[in-house]
Amino acid sequence: MVQDRFHRNIHYLRVSLTDMCNLRCVYCMPEDMTFRPRSELLQDAELLRLVRCFAQLGFDKIRLTGGEPTLRENLVELVAAMAATPGIRELAMTTNGITLKPLVAPLYAAGLRRVNVSLDTLDPVKFRRLTRWGQLNDVWAGLHAAEAAGLKIKLNAVVVRNQNDQADVVDLARLTLEHNWQIRFIEVMPMGQVADFQKSAMVPEAELRSTIQQALGPLELQNNGLLDGEARVYQLPSAPGTLGFISPVTQPFCAGCNRARLTADGRLLLCLLRDKECNLLSLLRAGAPDEDVMKHIADNIWYKPWGHGLARDVRPTRNMSEIGG
Ligand code: SAM
Ligand code: SF4
Repeated sequence: MVQDRFHRNIHYLRVSLTDMCNLRCVYCMPEDMTFRPRSELLQDAELLRLVRCFAQLGFDKIRLTGGEPTLRENLVELVAAMAATPGIRELAMTTNGITLKPLVAPLYAAGLRRVNVSLDTLDPVKFRRLTRWGQLNDVWAGLHAAEAAGLKIKLNAVVVRNQNDQADVVDLARLTLEHNWQIRFIEVMPMGQVADFQKSAMVPEAELRSTIQQALGPLELQNNGLLDGEARVYQLPSAPGTLGFISPVTQPFCAGCNRARLTADGRLLLCLLRDKECNLLSLLRAGAPDEDVMKHIADNIWYKPWGHGLARDVRPTRNMSEIGG
């Protein structure tokens, strides 16, 4: 297993399959976002080779993300190949759900077992406002198809001040009374071209919990407060589902970070919120053998930054959609 110099075991890879998206969420990218040409992105064979290198270094968990991962050509074939890679024990995907429905059955058959669907509100008008283009019904269709197929489901809701921070949050939390889902509320992180908006839009976890408790009753802390991934987990009394709070701004979880990220343009990114990255794509295209690629990955992981610098106003240059969260 690869370690960084702070003795953290790094074994979870988040793979951005594309920087493209079929939505333009206000907290993620500008409306006139432009995307990279295909030739600058990892091709299927390059991506799968890198996944094998990471797996040989001890990476056992992969989350596919984007941009919108369901837009990637050959998604099902890629999932099947990753699921069959020796060493990979868990394969998950984060998606906006818009084009998920027809893909659910083939993805399950290919080995995908977990899906995080991003859904910030149950109000179709607000959904459209937050995503600029989206239809809520499409997400619901994807979500229910995923549940019917047996995929384990989490919902990701980014909470934006004055847009979905009151009744919407309560409505989403109420879903856990009916479904065995984890609804995760995420603090907006400032990055890329929309950082100033994101900074003013952030709603702290403590305020969200108080809003939910006032409407639905006391929240019980789960797992003795131990994080589930990056989420602190709570539950409403007798609810089948749980509530997760991902609070990188007010309660950073950098000390327990076990992740590395691979961008669609083949960069190894050492921290979501730092610009430090290394170019694996050019290494592959220069003909480096696997041993060199793996050494390069391990050497760079050793220098993974301790944590983000949001408290000192250090913001990453890339937009969230280029990295995948
Ligand atoms: N398109 C897919 C989706 O929306 O689920 C995958 C990529 S998206 C960048 C991954 C996650 O990041 C989503 O749950 C999204 O809501 C979240 N996200 C985007 N911008 C964010 C920001 N500025 N702060 C916190 N989370 C953000
Ligand atoms: Fe697209 Fe996901 Fe970003 Fe929304 S959060 S614009 S769906 S990449």
